[in-house]
Amino acid sequence: MITARTELLGDDPAGLSRAAEILSAGGLVAMPTETVYGLAADARNDMAVARIFEAKGRPRFNPLIVHLADAKDAQLYVAWPDMAQKLADAFWPGPLTLILPLRPEAGLSPLVTADLPSLAVRVPAHPLARRLLQRFGGPVAAPSANPSGRISPTEARHVLDGLSGKIDAVVDGGACPVGVESTIVGLTGRPTLLRPGGVPGEEIEAVLGQPLEHPSPDGPISAPGQLRSHYAPGASVRLNATELKDGEILLGFGAVDCALNLSATGDLTEAAANLFGHLHALDALNPNGIAVSPIPETGLGRAINDRLRRAAAPR
Ligand code: AMP
Ligand code: MG
Repeated sequence: MITARTELLGDDPAGLSRAAEILSAGGLVAMPTETVYGLAADARNDMAVARIFEAKGRPRFNPLIVHLADAKDAQLYVAWPDMAQKLADAFWPGPLTLILPLRPEAGLSPLVTADLPSLAVRVPAHPLARRLLQRFGGPVAAPSANPSGRISPTEARHVLDGLSGKIDAVVDGGACPVGVESTIVGLTGRPTLLRPGGVPGEEIEAVLGQPLEHPSPDGPISAPGQLRSHYAPGASVRLNATELKDGEILLGFGAVDCALNLSATGDLTEAAANLFGHLHALDALNPNGIAVSPIPETGLGRAINDRLRRAAAPR
């Protein structure tokens, strides 16, 4: 199926029922979530899931997160240890993804898991995502709605900038409130932080009552969001900048003189919500480079620094 025109749908009942209809027909719909916009397709439909990889130019070895309307639905698709229940009780709906052993009889397209024996599941909190998932009534595979490797979309127009004509529709739900992707915790062995994200690792450790393991940076890639170069704007990115070099513009944090500020008051929640939008906006100015102020490595700062390090990595 080749999509000539991408429909822009409103956040009203008509928009959501059109979005659900497209999903049922095997189409692709970008939907707002509290983290970033997700590119949704029916996770049971091979053709639909294949179209996600095509539209994004995403490598087939990079598995997708399955989004569900309700925590109790997760047990249809994955084995469900006590630790999963504890984390779901504490953080779902919300920006936490759990990796659990796949139930092979679950009926999901093998493209979703890139043939891995594990599956990533999440129950998003955004009211529009929840209403769309309820209306559609099935599991939805949804990576971020951007060309693979580029800056993640936190507004409908970012989605259109990257994927217009390649997907069937976008539901416009305004700006994403959290602004960075979900935290990914692996529960197929000892609990492991595979990707920092919208729920700070410290809060997860407090609920589990034990520290999270960290995958070795030299080990095999278990979550390809770990790819070193990712989230990249067109311009080069330089971190921990306290002064500007020739032709650079500053993405600030705290009380600094800058082109755009992630948070003038040094608030990490505000900074996460602004991160990708500000990167999109600065990149559109075609600067020689984007310099970024130092950002503390605590709480949401870990997810922000993780994305910035990948945006700055050699490509
Ligand atoms: P995104 O592209 O932002 O949707 O990120 C999805 C992330 O979840 C990627 O880093 C994937 O590699 C990771 N992921 C999805 N499924 C699995 C899985 N079964 N095991 C490990 N990581 C996974
Ligand atoms: Mg992504």
